[in-house]
Amino acid sequence: MRLARDVDLIDIEHVRLPHSRDELWLEPGEAFMGGGTALYSEPRPGIRGLVDLTAMGWPPIEELPDGGIRIAATCTLEQLAEADSHPLFRPCVDALFGSWKIHRVATVGGNICLALPAGPMTSLTSGLDGTAVIWAPDGRDRRTPIIGFVRGPQEISLAPGELLRAIELPGSALRSPSAMRRTSLTPMGRSAVFVVARADPGGDFAVTITASTTCPVRLGFTGVPTAAELTKAIDGIDVWYADPHGSIDWRADLTKRFAEELRVELGEAA
Ligand SMILES: Cc1cc2nc3c(=O)[nH]c(=O)nc-3n(C[C@H](O)[C@H](O)[C@H](O)COP(=O)(O)OP(=O)(O)OC[C@H]3O[C@@H](n4cnc5c(N)ncnc54)[C@H](O)[C@@H]3O)c2cc1C
Repeated sequence: MRLARDVDLIDIEHVRLPHSRDELWLEPGEAFMGGGTALYSEPRPGIRGLVDLTAMGWPPIEELPDGGIRIAATCTLEQLAEADSHPLFRPCVDALFGSWKIHRVATVGGNICLALPAGPMTSLTSGLDGTAVIWAPDGRDRRTPIIGFVRGPQEISLAPGELLRAIELPGSALRSPSAMRRTSLTPMGRSAVFVVARADPGGDFAVTITASTTCPVRLGFTGVPTAAELTKAIDGIDVWYADPHGSIDWRADLTKRFAEELRVELGEAA
């Protein structure tokens, strides 16, 4: 256990370092911590203790039998980019305009659990059909798609005491041609529009929209859609997001433009 003087959150009395699942419980006033880059960035009234998940020593990335991978929630953005297991990993890490210091400690799980619309790990893992592996305090596990796990700005579907253990990306999604587009209002700003598209060899085409929406939105098609079909699907979105990083109209226009670019790019390759 580290003492409160080791951290600069003045209300924090202790930081616990669990080494086994038996020690992964939350006492009242405790919160799980990944890299701590968000937790330490502003006052957290009500949080008196932190449970540092990085002490668990989970392997950052493991291969799955279907050719997919399991990314530990504690995998750092730097580790993910260096693993280079997919062409979208590096650009998605770079979409978080923190310095190398942030990339070195911020975790994939922390980024997803913070649940900002501009969370690039949410964009990446929802775009590649990721499944959240959740550990419950009673020792049980459950799995749920990242789409649906991130429900809205700073809202995720974790019950009290549950934690995100890992994100699994299926081999089929990793093998499918995919591409992304993103932009922000200012050159170094947070993502305001983030679109990932995938053309599955079986013929299915998926467009996943984040940052311009309050939660990830997946538009699925049998075969490459026409421009009109894609526009119609985007027009049906009712969870557009606005904040100082961009208005709804601007975000919706760019979402359409990016999705169309990706439709042409991946459609020609399909
Ligand atoms: C300069 C700078 C730029 C940034 N830019 C962006 C940006 O563009 N987009 C963006 O989304 N964020 C951004 N952030 C915010 C933040 O740093 C990142 O979201 C980062 O990825 C959070 O990861 P972390 O591991 O440090 O999370 P932490 O600070 O450790 O935790 C974040 C939240 O998730 C919870 N949590 C962490 N891990 C788990 C887990 N495994 N299970 C359950 N709950 C968990 C914590 O309790 C906390 O509520 C930025 C921060 C800085 C300092």
